Amino acid sequence: MSEKIVIGKEEWCGLPELGLPAIKARVDSGAKTSSLHAFNIHTFEEDGKKYVHFDIHPIQDNRKIIQSCRGLVVDRRNVKSSSGAKETRHVIKTPIILGEETWDIEVTLTNRDTMGYRMLIGREAMKERVLIDPEASFCLGTRNEREVETHYNTVQPRKDGLKIMLLASNPELYSNKRLMEAGEERGHEMRFINIRQCYMNISASSPEVHYRGGELLNVDAVIPRIKPSMTFYGCAVTRQFESIGAFCLNDSVSIARSRDKLRSLQMLSSKAIPMPTTSFANSPVDTAEIIKMVGGAPLVVKLLEGTQGKGVVLAETNKAAESVINAFKSLQANILVQEFIKEAQGKDIRCFVIDGKVVGSIQREAAAGEFRANLHLGGVASTVKITPQERKIAINAAKAMGLKVAGVDIIRSKDGPKVLEINSSPGLEGIENITSKDVASMMIESIEKNLRPN
Ligand code: ADP
Repeated sequence: MSEKIVIGKEEWCGLPELGLPAIKARVDSGAKTSSLHAFNIHTFEEDGKKYVHFDIHPIQDNRKIIQSCRGLVVDRRNVKSSSGAKETRHVIKTPIILGEETWDIEVTLTNRDTMGYRMLIGREAMKERVLIDPEASFCLGTRNEREVETHYNTVQPRKDGLKIMLLASNPELYSNKRLMEAGEERGHEMRFINIRQCYMNISASSPEVHYRGGELLNVDAVIPRIKPSMTFYGCAVTRQFESIGAFCLNDSVSIARSRDKLRSLQMLSSKAIPMPTTSFANSPVDTAEIIKMVGGAPLVVKLLEGTQGKGVVLAETNKAAESVINAFKSLQANILVQEFIKEAQGKDIRCFVIDGKVVGSIQREAAAGEFRANLHLGGVASTVKITPQERKIAINAAKAMGLKVAGVDIIRSKDGPKVLEINSSPGLEGIENITSKDVASMMIESIEKNLRPN
């Protein structure tokens, strides 16, 4: 074997079999295993061997350049990250080029978005081949980052990009920015369409959707992100996109259904999905009866049109409940009355469902002195492990509503998990930040799968 090479605490290396000629890596003998940034990780079998397919942003802080890689899986390993979180990762075996030398190393795949480097080279990979000078950097030479960028840009053309419209109201919202970014990263032509500025010709011999003076043609897919106050028009525009043959990631009928709290609960109930005991009435003479139906106070009164917890009131006594219900009714407001799940202690769980799978879940906990866990009301989100039963309920609830993408809110009661509500435009900020999952890319991927099966 040749002499040991001297490397510094950061070096450029190459992973030729993954199609990655230049990656800036952190060298750390304090870490045992090496790791590489990866997202959209899927395993598959070929000729009896297990492979993994994944995407990587090979250049730090540049999410536009994306490289798809595949590697041979040799193991699955429990790894504790520097933040202390435990994770099970795929391990691949692949050659590394450092300076003039090439040898096989094992690398774990993980999302390193929050880390300073796309790759970490640990001591196992270095073995007896390398000497580290922890004071030095780039002992094997530096690279011009611009040139590296140009290289990746030229190996990256994607010819089968789709034309995807993000149908929403505010391009500055975290979720909308992330969806635009994720679609572009995956090589699609993304366009932000402001719902309000869409107009339609519904009587033309073939239906048309217009936007800012031009007709929108050859639209492959639409991501409707309709805020509650735009439900009526937003659903009409979505429906028009459906009639011109665009695939909608949540169709207009399912969105409209899920916006009606009462209708949603009725649909869930018809599919035997557990929910808190709920009653509904219109005439003021029935107040005492509907209180009795949910088992008396304490109980929760909800405005059907309320969102973000604003129209949700806790009535601690029957007397208070009666006053609140009658007050709402005198304002002609539609309400429902629900048993109060006290044992949840102000916590609920948001499950993010895409295509019949829970891709991430977070727990929300109400601020002190508050029973509503909504983040807009000062609730705090954290990671949570959901039970198989909760997973099943979330999936079935999204299915019952016909939603491909849904945020299903579940509350843990003494009788098991119960569904509180279903959101057809669930926000991405909380779920992505708490779980460090690239949920925006998963949504784009769902469009790809639906439009190009296999
Ligand atoms: P919104 O659509 O306005 O968010 P929700 O029905 O989701 O209304 O209620 C808001 C919050 O209030 C929930 O996230 C949950 O923390 C709490 N909550 C709602 N219903 C109940 C209930 N029946 N028992 C206990 N807490 C509840």
